[in-house]
Amino acid sequence: MIRDNILNIKERIAQACSQVGRDPRQITVVAVTKGRNIDEIRQAIAAGISDIGENKVQEALLKYSELATNRRTHEPANLRTIRWHMVGHLQTNKVKEALKIFDLIHSVDSLRLGREINKQSQRLNKVQDILIEVKTSEEATKFGFKPEEAAEAVRELTQLKNINVTGLMTIAPRVDNPEEARPYFRALREMKDQINQLTSHPLTILSMGMSDDFEAAIEEGASLVRLGRAIFEGVE
Ligand SMILES: *Cc1c(COP(=O)(O)O)cnc(C)c1O
Repeated sequence: MIRDNILNIKERIAQACSQVGRDPRQITVVAVTKGRNIDEIRQAIAAGISDIGENKVQEALLKYSELATNRRTHEPANLRTIRWHMVGHLQTNKVKEALKIFDLIHSVDSLRLGREINKQSQRLNKVQDILIEVKTSEEATKFGFKPEEAAEAVRELTQLKNINVTGLMTIAPRVDNPEEARPYFRALREMKDQINQLTSHPLTILSMGMSDDFEAAIEEGASLVRLGRAIFEGVE
């Protein structure tokens, strides 16, 4: 069933891409696995998922070690190349732990957090890829930079040596009709374009779109879509 859901999602992504002349290879599905068990995650990986998203550090660490140590002989080889994404609000006191496993932190929502990630990354001799979370709507989430703060946040955090600001992330409000989410996606893309006019280090990634609205997000330029229910429950 998870396999069927993923096949269905791939088709819908291809369809959305063809609407706007994009190449489906430009879009990565991040399977958001909060609350899902190891067996479900293994099924998703076996069906081709290579990017896992979690919104709590502790839960992610547990799953990470379980996937790594319970490797059975018939496990798919791509288990070793899984990329881990932090998509939930990250407290500064969890940064150290988070840096152990996450390839990309989507949810940098304050300068304080960005600076802490930089500081801890320096200790580990690592350069951590991050996205700046932007609150494109007031109601969707309490976290994220205000739209008018985003360019300055990118500018400041780009100067730090041990973080690499690669793009923007947003959470759109939950709406009945995905078309209602489209303006928030468009706003994020326009923000990226504006910021890129001012910098020699252009942002490339837009993390936007969830199970109810990922096609609209792709049509507006998403590069990472974060899908939970569409993969594990098969919502249409
Ligand atoms: C849970 C979650 C998702 C996935 O949501 P679905 O509606 O299940 O696709 C995406 N992004 C974030 C930040 C989440 O917390």
